[in-house]
Amino acid sequence: MGPGETDLELIRSRIREVPDFPKKGIAFKDITPLLQDGHAFRKAVDAMAAPFEGRDLETICSAEARGFIFGAALSYRLGIGFAPVRKPGKLPPQTHTVSYSLEYGTDSLEIRQDALAKGEKVLLVDDVLATGGTMEACCRLVETAGGVVVACLFLIELAALGGREKLPGREIVSVLTYD
Ligand code: AMP
Repeated sequence: MGPGETDLELIRSRIREVPDFPKKGIAFKDITPLLQDGHAFRKAVDAMAAPFEGRDLETICSAEARGFIFGAALSYRLGIGFAPVRKPGKLPPQTHTVSYSLEYGTDSLEIRQDALAKGEKVLLVDDVLATGGTMEACCRLVETAGGVVVACLFLIELAALGGREKLPGREIVSVLTYD
Protein backbone atom coordinates (compact mmCIF):
# COMPACT_ATOMS: atom_id res chain seq x y z
CA MET A 1 0.00 0.00 0.00
CA GLY A 2 1.22 3.50 -0.81
CA PRO A 3 1.80 6.23 1.77
CA GLY A 4 -1.16 8.22 3.12
CA GLU A 5 -1.27 12.02 3.23
CA THR A 6 -0.17 12.04 6.87
CA ASP A 7 2.90 9.92 6.04
CA LEU A 8 3.83 12.30 3.24
CA GLU A 9 3.31 15.29 5.54
CA LEU A 10 5.52 13.68 8.17
CA ILE A 11 8.28 12.99 5.63
CA ARG A 12 8.05 16.51 4.22
CA SER A 13 8.18 18.03 7.70
CA ARG A 14 11.54 16.32 8.34
CA ILE A 15 13.23 17.78 5.26
CA ARG A 16 14.94 21.04 6.13
CA GLU A 17 15.52 23.73 3.55
CA VAL A 18 18.88 25.46 3.96
CA PRO A 19 19.01 28.66 1.89
CA ASP A 20 22.19 29.61 0.03
CA PHE A 21 23.95 26.26 0.61
CA PRO A 22 26.42 25.16 -0.67
CA LYS A 23 26.41 28.49 -2.49
CA LYS A 24 24.25 31.57 -2.93
CA GLY A 25 20.95 30.96 -4.71
CA ILE A 26 20.76 27.22 -3.98
CA ALA A 27 17.93 26.05 -1.69
CA PHE A 28 19.51 22.90 -0.27
CA LYS A 29 17.17 20.09 0.79
CA ASP A 30 18.74 18.69 3.95
CA ILE A 31 17.60 15.11 4.59
CA THR A 32 19.57 14.65 7.83
CA PRO A 33 16.63 15.57 10.12
CA LEU A 34 14.64 12.83 8.33
CA LEU A 35 17.42 10.30 8.92
CA GLN A 36 17.52 11.21 12.61
CA ASP A 37 13.83 10.34 13.03
CA GLY A 38 13.70 6.57 12.72
CA HIS A 39 9.93 6.46 12.24
CA ALA A 40 9.95 9.13 9.50
CA PHE A 41 13.00 7.54 7.82
CA ARG A 42 11.20 4.20 7.70
CA LYS A 43 8.08 5.87 6.25
CA ALA A 44 10.25 7.50 3.58
CA VAL A 45 11.84 4.19 2.58
CA ASP A 46 8.43 2.48 2.60
CA ALA A 47 6.97 5.23 0.39
CA MET A 48 9.85 4.85 -2.06
CA ALA A 49 9.49 1.06 -2.10
CA ALA A 50 5.68 0.93 -2.48
CA PRO A 51 5.44 1.51 -6.27
CA PHE A 52 8.08 -1.19 -6.84
CA GLU A 53 6.79 -4.04 -4.66
CA GLY A 54 6.34 -7.07 -6.88
CA ARG A 55 7.96 -5.42 -9.91
CA ASP A 56 10.47 -7.39 -11.94
CA LEU A 57 13.72 -5.87 -10.63
CA GLU A 58 17.10 -7.47 -10.01
CA THR A 59 19.43 -4.77 -8.69
CA ILE A 60 19.45 -1.27 -7.24
CA CYS A 61 22.16 1.17 -8.31
CA SER A 62 22.83 4.42 -6.47
CA ALA A 63 25.57 7.02 -6.59
CA GLU A 64 27.51 8.07 -3.53
CA ALA A 65 27.02 9.53 -1.06
CA ARG A 66 23.39 10.26 -0.24
CA GLY A 67 22.11 7.85 -2.86
CA PHE A 68 23.68 5.03 -0.85
CA ILE A 69 21.52 5.81 2.20
CA PHE A 70 18.23 5.22 0.38
CA GLY A 71 19.56 2.75 -2.18
CA ALA A 72 20.85 0.32 0.44
CA ALA A 73 17.69 0.59 2.55
CA LEU A 74 15.55 -0.11 -0.54
CA SER A 75 17.74 -3.04 -1.48
CA TYR A 76 17.01 -4.57 1.92
CA ARG A 77 13.30 -3.65 1.72
CA LEU A 78 12.80 -5.10 -1.79
CA GLY A 79 15.14 -8.05 -1.22
CA ILE A 80 17.36 -7.40 -4.25
CA GLY A 81 21.07 -6.68 -4.69
CA PHE A 82 22.89 -3.36 -4.66
CA ALA A 83 25.62 -2.13 -7.01
CA PRO A 84 27.36 1.11 -6.00
CA VAL A 85 28.15 3.95 -8.40
CA ARG A 86 31.16 5.90 -7.15
CA LYS A 87 33.47 8.80 -7.83
CA PRO A 88 36.58 7.77 -9.81
CA GLY A 89 39.26 5.59 -8.26
CA LYS A 90 37.20 3.83 -5.56
CA LEU A 91 36.03 0.58 -7.18
CA PRO A 92 38.55 -2.18 -7.95
CA PRO A 93 39.51 -3.86 -10.12
CA GLN A 94 38.10 -2.47 -13.38
CA THR A 95 35.39 0.07 -14.02
CA HIS A 96 33.27 1.72 -16.67
CA THR A 97 33.39 5.51 -16.47
CA VAL A 98 31.01 8.23 -17.68
CA SER A 99 31.55 11.98 -17.59
CA TYR A 100 28.84 14.58 -17.20
CA SER A 101 28.62 18.35 -17.16
CA LEU A 102 28.32 20.39 -14.01
CA GLU A 103 27.61 24.10 -13.82
CA TYR A 104 31.37 24.62 -13.96
CA GLY A 105 33.40 21.84 -15.59
CA THR A 106 32.73 18.12 -15.63
CA ASP A 107 32.62 15.21 -13.21
CA SER A 108 32.82 11.43 -13.61
CA LEU A 109 31.14 8.39 -12.11
CA GLU A 110 32.16 4.75 -12.22
CA ILE A 111 30.65 1.29 -11.85
CA ARG A 112 32.49 -2.03 -11.64
CA GLN A 113 32.80 -3.62 -15.07
CA ASP A 114 31.34 -6.90 -13.80
CA ALA A 115 28.70 -5.32 -11.55
CA LEU A 116 25.76 -6.22 -13.80
CA ALA A 117 24.88 -9.23 -15.93
CA LYS A 118 23.76 -8.55 -19.49
CA GLY A 119 20.13 -7.43 -19.41
CA GLU A 120 20.04 -7.11 -15.62
CA LYS A 121 17.01 -5.08 -14.57
CA VAL A 122 18.06 -2.06 -12.53
CA LEU A 123 16.22 0.43 -10.34
CA LEU A 124 18.25 3.63 -10.02
CA VAL A 125 17.82 5.54 -6.76
CA ASP A 126 18.85 8.98 -5.49
CA ASP A 127 17.70 11.36 -2.79
CA VAL A 128 17.11 14.43 -4.99
CA LEU A 129 16.30 15.01 -8.67
CA ALA A 130 17.59 18.51 -9.41
CA THR A 131 18.89 19.23 -12.94
CA GLY A 132 18.96 15.50 -13.74
CA GLY A 133 22.61 15.47 -14.80
CA THR A 134 23.66 12.94 -12.17
CA MET A 135 20.82 10.53 -12.94
CA GLU A 136 21.32 10.86 -16.69
CA ALA A 137 24.97 9.87 -16.15
CA CYS A 138 23.92 6.94 -13.94
CA CYS A 139 21.55 5.70 -16.67
CA ARG A 140 24.35 5.80 -19.25
CA LEU A 141 26.66 4.01 -16.83
CA VAL A 142 24.19 1.19 -16.12
CA GLU A 143 23.56 0.74 -19.84
CA THR A 144 27.29 0.76 -20.60
CA ALA A 145 27.69 -2.01 -18.02
CA GLY A 146 24.99 -4.07 -19.82
CA GLY A 147 22.09 -3.37 -17.50
CA VAL A 148 18.55 -2.24 -18.34
CA VAL A 149 17.19 0.83 -16.51
CA VAL A 150 13.67 -0.04 -15.40
CA ALA A 151 13.00 3.22 -13.52
CA CYS A 152 14.60 6.17 -11.71
CA LEU A 153 13.39 6.69 -8.13
CA PHE A 154 13.84 9.78 -5.95
CA LEU A 155 12.68 10.86 -2.54
CA ILE A 156 12.55 14.51 -3.66
CA GLU A 157 11.98 16.08 -7.07
CA LEU A 158 12.77 19.78 -7.57
CA ALA A 159 10.34 20.24 -10.44
CA ALA A 160 11.39 23.78 -11.36
CA LEU A 161 14.87 22.56 -12.33
CA GLY A 162 13.45 20.39 -15.11
CA GLY A 163 15.37 17.22 -14.36
CA ARG A 164 12.71 15.09 -16.05
CA GLU A 165 13.56 16.65 -19.40
CA LYS A 166 17.07 15.22 -19.11
CA LEU A 167 15.55 11.74 -18.73
CA PRO A 168 13.20 11.41 -21.71
CA GLY A 169 11.42 8.08 -22.03
CA ARG A 170 12.44 7.01 -18.53
CA GLU A 171 9.98 5.97 -15.84
CA ILE A 172 10.53 8.53 -13.08
CA VAL A 173 9.01 8.18 -9.62
CA SER A 174 9.39 10.70 -6.80
CA VAL A 175 7.76 10.66 -3.38
CA LEU A 176 7.75 14.43 -2.78
CA THR A 177 7.68 17.17 -5.39
CA TYR A 178 8.73 20.77 -4.70
CA ASP A 179 7.95 23.65 -7.07
P1 AMP B 1 21.41 16.95 -10.33
O1 AMP B 1 21.44 18.44 -10.59
O2 AMP B 1 20.04 16.37 -10.55
O3 AMP B 1 22.46 16.23 -11.09
O4 AMP B 1 21.71 16.80 -8.78
C1 AMP B 1 22.98 16.47 -8.37
C2 AMP B 1 23.05 15.81 -7.03
O5 AMP B 1 23.16 16.83 -6.07
C3 AMP B 1 21.88 14.92 -6.67
O6 AMP B 1 22.39 13.61 -6.45
C4 AMP B 1 21.35 15.51 -5.39
O7 AMP B 1 21.54 14.59 -4.33
C5 AMP B 1 22.18 16.73 -5.11
N1 AMP B 1 21.42 17.98 -5.14
C6 AMP B 1 21.25 18.82 -6.18
N2 AMP B 1 20.52 19.88 -5.84
C7 AMP B 1 20.20 19.71 -4.53
C8 AMP B 1 19.45 20.47 -3.58
N3 AMP B 1 18.85 21.63 -3.89
N4 AMP B 1 19.33 19.98 -2.33
C9 AMP B 1 19.91 18.81 -1.99
N5 AMP B 1 20.63 18.07 -2.83
C10 AMP B 1 20.78 18.50 -4.09
